[in-house]
Amino acid sequence: MKILKKPSEMKVLSESFHKINKSVGFVPTMGSLHAGHLSLIKAARKKCDVVIVSIFVNPTQFGVGEDLDKYPRDIQADAKICEQARADYIFNPESKDIYSSGVDSLLITYPELSKKLCGKFRPGHFDGVTTVMPKLLYIVEPDYCFMGKKDGQQLIIIKKLVSDLFMDCEIIGCSTVRESSGLAMSSRNLYLAESEIVKANKIFVALASFIDSLQAAGDESQNIEEALNAGSNILRKVDGLDIQYFDFVDRETLNPVRKFKSGTYMICGAVVCSGTRLIDNFTVDIDSDGLIHVDMGVDESGLSFNIGNESRLQS
Ligand code: AMP
Repeated sequence: MKILKKPSEMKVLSESFHKINKSVGFVPTMGSLHAGHLSLIKAARKKCDVVIVSIFVNPTQFGVGEDLDKYPRDIQADAKICEQARADYIFNPESKDIYSSGVDSLLITYPELSKKLCGKFRPGHFDGVTTVMPKLLYIVEPDYCFMGKKDGQQLIIIKKLVSDLFMDCEIIGCSTVRESSGLAMSSRNLYLAESEIVKANKIFVALASFIDSLQAAGDESQNIEEALNAGSNILRKVDGLDIQYFDFVDRETLNPVRKFKSGTYMICGAVVCSGTRLIDNFTVDIDSDGLIHVDMGVDESGLSFNIGNESRLQS
């Protein structure tokens, strides 16, 4: 496995693979890799001839006072994980090479989508994401780009972006990988003390409780509101957990949904736990028969979480 730093070098390499009809799979990350990232690399390895992982802590997606400076960085440990997962290349550029004409020189934005949910609490965050992603995709030119459902809003926005820019790349959303307690794996979990992890686990419990209530109640419209209350009450009871949002939204528009009808949705939440901001969601599909299909994520070995698995919900 090789580590490349220069965008020009990366681009030449990628083009060489296309010339010989090798499919390129790309996993964009900010490093501090964990089993969640690993699942994306494995999915890429399964589908593609060549696997490229980028490790780039993108400064433009961090707001003033956020954790850009303290964000965990360990390229040696990351390289080991990539090697074990049989990635072929790490693209690890410098900020000055990605933003050679300055971080304020180009802005790609979705004015509406970028202000909803997380965007309300992290102004400018999605502008940073939608500005850096086309740069990375033009450099790496992947056939497939593997991204986590854990960052649900990001995934939705990037799928739209790739389509709007007529990019020849398929974005593949991969299930959220969770600790056995249900906590979604995240590089930011490293900031949490043990007692805080117990509190953070409640996000999963709240999401599961929403689904539980919805499934128990059936298709009465007011039940979405009730199920939201059931979930958010769990979070409200936890000392030291501040809820930023807890909502059931449409996966196309990100608008709140209160009417039970067939469609593709997401139950999602964001909390701040002792200064650390954590997000999580389940995707929810309601079919034309009113049946609810939920992707709650998987554990490290790839086994799905399911409602009714009480040992997981009690943690
Ligand atoms: P990050 O390094 O946090 O920017 O994440 C890089 C990619 O990994 C994004 O597509 C994330 O959605 C994905 N990712 C992060 N955590 C998880 C997780 N627990 N399960 C699956 N994918 C994840």
